[in-house]
Amino acid sequence: MCMPLPGTVQPEKMESYANGAKFDCLLFDMDDTLYPLSLGINLACRKNIQDYMLNKLQIEESQVPKMCLDLYREYGTTMAGLKLIGYDFDYDEFHASVHGKLPYEKLKPDPVLRSLLLSMPQRKIIFTNSDEAHAATVLEKMGLEGCFEGIICFETLNQKNPGDTSAGDGSGKRVLCKPSLESMEAVVEIAKLDPKKTVFFDDSPRNIASGKAAGFHTVIVGSSALVAGADVALESIHNIREALPELWEAGGDHAVDIRSAAVAETTVLA
Ligand SMILES: [Mg+2]
Repeated sequence: MCMPLPGTVQPEKMESYANGAKFDCLLFDMDDTLYPLSLGINLACRKNIQDYMLNKLQIEESQVPKMCLDLYREYGTTMAGLKLIGYDFDYDEFHASVHGKLPYEKLKPDPVLRSLLLSMPQRKIIFTNSDEAHAATVLEKMGLEGCFEGIICFETLNQKNPGDTSAGDGSGKRVLCKPSLESMEAVVEIAKLDPKKTVFFDDSPRNIASGKAAGFHTVIVGSSALVAGADVALESIHNIREALPELWEAGGDHAVDIRSAAVAETTVLA
């Protein structure tokens, strides 16, 4: 289970944004959004998924690459597709196998991003299809611990519960994940968001389209061109201040205080 969210909200912070600020929450995808696709983590992840399909699920080698891509396109993640078409495997084992061998050494501390995140007064939440262990490792490698109020991940949306037939470890089960509109609505409910006051950052055009359908203000990351449903395009997450200066426009005195405190904290850590 990922970090609980609603309990960690600071009431005074919420209150200050209820008074006129345009946005009060920033919802971030993690992989290929907080760090660039060019690092190769995504490619290594796909290779590991294909190895799992071949070696653990005994899927015919010639079918694996196409099936991996087709399931990803159809069901949001390859894992969600494998489960739905009837493969029986343990989620935790899958995640450990796929993420355990990733070249995490490619992820370096990003003090620039850390400073940007801490200087923005809004609530900040990660929304990732990955599992909790991977999310924790990525944030730790990037030096971004403490920058987010919480993480909504695979375990948050697909809790193991023997009495729940909509999720679990059995085969033929539906996995709740992006880009489904249902996953977006679940996040709104879990984190108690107002979609109209939330900015959603993601590198995937289909997630952006779904996020727009859910009512978010949307930012496609890793692209200089807008995609369908995107309000803003960011080549890199590092360009956030240039593209969205309004995120630093405080909604009240409290917000200014929070921002100053965060900057001071960053200075101490640097
Ligand atoms: Mg991504």
